[in-house]
Amino acid sequence: MPKNLPNQLDPRSPLVLDTRELPRRPGALRTHKRVVPAPADLGLELISVPQGADLSLDLRLESVSEGVLVSGTVSGPVAGECGRCLREINDSVTVTVQQLYAYENSTTDVTTEEDEVGRMQGDLIDLEPEVRDALVLALPANPLCREDCPGLCPECGVHWDDLPADHRHEQLDPRWAGLSNLKEE
Ligand SMILES: [Zn+2]
Ligand SMILES: [Zn+2]
Repeated sequence: MPKNLPNQLDPRSPLVLDTRELPRRPGALRTHKRVVPAPADLGLELISVPQGADLSLDLRLESVSEGVLVSGTVSGPVAGECGRCLREINDSVTVTVQQLYAYENSTTDVTTEEDEVGRMQGDLIDLEPEVRDALVLALPANPLCREDCPGLCPECGVHWDDLPADHRHEQLDPRWAGLSNLKEE
């Protein structure tokens, strides 16, 4: 397959919107409310929407003169790991999306830069890049299980929550380490 052909959108894919029901008359409106399975890799390395989790789309599709304006919210569960103590994090996230998708070969399509507006493929809109971008911005790069998570003791790896307040490790001067080994023998 030639490399530079745009990916053909699959109308059955969960984040591809089919606008066939939306009249191409400025002002025409349709709502798009549904729950779809989340695609893979939706989020960041340490926290993301699990693949297959329920993503709720609550969208408004509006015909404008040269395309379709999609706006609304996308929400779903997020799972991840605390950046300090590696404990599991289970939370939820809601992001707002708003993006214009230009009709193929419309003036907007022809005269705008690649990233300026979205592009339609026939009647189809690929919402996935927009949702991905919004989620990446909304999720913390360094997620914490709680704001004041103290993390783990660097010596024994136990969570500070589970250690007594006076927990510490005897710091042996490396120069004496050899001696103490001798003593034990
Ligand atoms: Zn933590
Ligand atoms: Zn320790």
